[in-house]
Amino acid sequence: MPKKINKIGVLTSGGDAPGMNAAVRAVVRACAFHKVECVGIFQGYQGLIDDNFKAMNARSVNNIINKGGTILKSARCLEFRTPEGRKTAHENLLKSNIDALVVIGGDGSFTGAMIFQKEFSFPVIGIPGTIDNDIYGTRYTLGFDTALNTVVEAIDKIRDTASSHNRLFFVEVMGRDAGHIALNAGIGAGAEEILIPEENMGLDRLLESLKRSEKSGKSSSIVVVAEGDKTGKNVFEIASYIEQNLPYYEVRVSVMGHMQRGGAPSCFDRVLATRMGVHAVESILDGKSNVMVGIIDEEMTLCPLENAIKGKSKINNKLIRVSEI
Ligand code: ADP
Repeated sequence: MPKKINKIGVLTSGGDAPGMNAAVRAVVRACAFHKVECVGIFQGYQGLIDDNFKAMNARSVNNIINKGGTILKSARCLEFRTPEGRKTAHENLLKSNIDALVVIGGDGSFTGAMIFQKEFSFPVIGIPGTIDNDIYGTRYTLGFDTALNTVVEAIDKIRDTASSHNRLFFVEVMGRDAGHIALNAGIGAGAEEILIPEENMGLDRLLESLKRSEKSGKSSSIVVVAEGDKTGKNVFEIASYIEQNLPYYEVRVSVMGHMQRGGAPSCFDRVLATRMGVHAVESILDGKSNVMVGIIDEEMTLCPLENAIKGKSKINNKLIRVSEI
């Protein structure tokens, strides 16, 4: 018989993402609804080790659904990677009578959660929070939709200045291993070309394509480049190569950087976070552990943490075709 769950801890870990607060709020409120206590753990796994806990109730999460970042703070914690660190974390959880943990984060955080669960048979459940959308077992991660809107809005502004001159803009967006942001935002912003880690377009094909559009009378263009694109060159090197070979355009580079992580979550992310938070709590109360909440075909799902970590979230090939057309 699994132990009855009376108290659930919640933390946010790794890179922050818009929608994390909405998920924390949903976890806290779902606990209140089911008459289970809830404890907020600050600074991710560091807070587990430092005993940085605070009891949460519905009032503690007032007015946070609309806020970016995470009120629980996030941290990268080296100590949690050691058996001694995790032992201290476990002792602190027991001392506070916490029976289960909700971890909102990315695949690094889930790796830590899985190891912890195995070592101590401690119930854990993950909620995917990362703007990169690169986690297997869910169609969408928290923050992805907001980041797309941020990028599209920024590119719209860049387009205004690009079209006022004969400018070719290279816009770098986040995505070291996955091109979800670049592909979706590139289509949404009407980019001329999109470079992603999943496909090697090659500099020569890019150059030929830009030459063709220049010949067809296009006076300005936007190229979206994911951080981890496969040309083997960074965005400045790509831009410089094109500038040398296509003198018609004034070439400019814009790196979006951390602004992609910030801002108020979109309605989509708020609804997703709320559904995931509720589902996480109800799954824990239902005896589930070592799984991640996801959304597939509009339904809440559970996927083993191990699969979420090891699996690869695939780029949508139909979108690649659409972008080419
Ligand atoms: P993300 O969750 O966004 O991928 P990180 O990769 O930085 O972010 O992971 C967040 C935290 O998860 C790390 O700081 C560390 O405390 C914990 N973690 C990551 N990998 C491991 C691991 N192999 N063992 C134990 N803890 C880990």
